[in-house]
Amino acid sequence: MTRCPECESDLELDGYEIDVGETMNCPECGIELRVTSSEPVTVELADQEP
Ligand SMILES: [Zn+2]
Repeated sequence: MTRCPECESDLELDGYEIDVGETMNCPECGIELRVTSSEPVTVELADQEP
């Protein structure tokens, strides 16, 4: 299970097609997340510079 790095709530991404580089909003805290890996799905804060 993937967790939001901000609020640590579980992100239910099963069944979704996730592409690396895609962004989404956390359903709990609404923060923007960017997908950094698809197997397994890993996300980071989208506004966080490397
Ligand atoms: Zn969140």
